[in-house]
Parts: sequence; C-alpha cells; structure tokens
Amino acid sequence: MTRIASHRGGTLEFGDSTPQGFTATSQMALEEVEFDVHPTLDSAIVVHHDATLDATTDTSGTIAQMTLAQIRKATIRYSAGGHPMTLEELCTLYADSTVNFRCEIKPDADGMPYGDFVHRVISVLRQHGMLERTVFSSFLVRSMDEIAQATDRPRLWLVSPSVLRQLGADAVIEVAKAHAIGEVGIHIDTTDAALKDLFQSAGIEFGCWAAHTSEQITKALNLGVKVFTTDRPTLAIAIRDSHQGGRRA
Ligand code: FE
Repeated sequence: MTRIASHRGGTLEFGDSTPQGFTATSQMALEEVEFDVHPTLDSAIVVHHDATLDATTDTSGTIAQMTLAQIRKATIRYSAGGHPMTLEELCTLYADSTVNFRCEIKPDADGMPYGDFVHRVISVLRQHGMLERTVFSSFLVRSMDEIAQATDRPRLWLVSPSVLRQLGADAVIEVAKAHAIGEVGIHIDTTDAALKDLFQSAGIEFGCWAAHTSEQITKALNLGVKVFTTDRPTLAIAIRDSHQGGRRA
C-alpha cells in the first residue's frame, strides 16, 4: 500500500506546521507526519518549515537568531491562533499515535547545514522514544551524511526538480549510491513510471512529494510509489480509500 505523509501537518487543511494540523494528523488513518526542524538561539528545536518566521507567521525574524520565548510569541497564519511547537511537544503529541515521524533536516537561512544540529535532533527523538519511529529526509547531501553518521534509521534524499534536471536520473542514482542512500523523494510533477522503474531497478526505493491536488494524489497512487507527502491529508486518505475499494471491486 502506498503510504501517505501529512506534509507539515497538512498545510492546505490546517495552516503550515500548526498545532491544529499536527494534532489532527496524529488521529488520522495515515502512516507519517512530515515536519521540518530548526535550532533556536538558546538551543531549543522548533518545528517550522522556513528558517525564518516571515512567510507564515505574524512575526519576522530568523529562528536561529531568536530565543524560544521570542518564537513562541509568533502566531502562525490560518492556524486559529496557534504558535510554533518544539520537537519535544511534537514527540509528546505523537507518543500514543499510530502515525510515525518523517523528520526533515532543514538548512539555515543561507541554505547551509546548521552546525552541531543533527545529533541534537536525534537525541531529543531518542529521549522521547520516537527515534525508532522516525525516518529522516533532507535535500542536502551533507545532511544525509550527518544523519548516517549519527543513526542507522532510514534516510530519504529529497531531489528537487532542478537537481533532477541538471544531474539527470543516472547521476542522481550515482550520488545516492556513493552516499549509501537507499531511498529518494521526487516531486510528483517530475515523476513517471519509467523514472520510478529506473530507481527501483538500481535498488533505490522511490517516493514522491508535493501531491496536493486530486490529480497529483491519484497519480502517486496509480504509480504505486512507496510514499507521498501531501498538504491535503484528509483528501489523500479519501482518495486512497476509494482507490483501494475500486481495485478490490
Ligand atoms: Fe519538509
């Protein structure tokens, strides 16, 4: 069965990385919740997509240059008054959930990996009993390497449309092999059956990201990818349910 990952807690249904979205996702009939992490100035770990608060909250500022108390004051847009959560809080929320973690290691505001960060994320997950329920992802090969040095947990490399276009699929496979990466995530719009077969025949598991419309979700299900991320988890569950019903009939 193709797995569904609720992207940032279901951005198009609950706002971007909101407590409401993460709470709702924890009770859904899907497999993974996708989220992104950044360090604060005072060494907390915040669950937020961007390295800054500017685009999705009522506050501006760079997370790594702010204290947790300052970040807490930010209200996330379209969240009914919600504030950014810490990784610890997310762990507590999912302790009894059947939904597992897909944790994306983000770069800083300049696009570079944060120093001394990956092992701290792993240690928080371990302390809260969530490490064994976590798959890691990143667009950055350097971060993929850091994850591998710190844990044996699965890692998936997010390959952007521009990287896929510039390198080509064969070179992406070569890079993946050179870094012992066993799984990739490709944008749903740059995916087709031939590309999936190419990766799978190279022994690399294949998933997609950004399947937000009915058409994109249906495409991911028809391709039978391992997993896809979606900003519309409720819609994705409904389509998967009818898809499977249709297949059984
Ligand atoms: Fe992400």
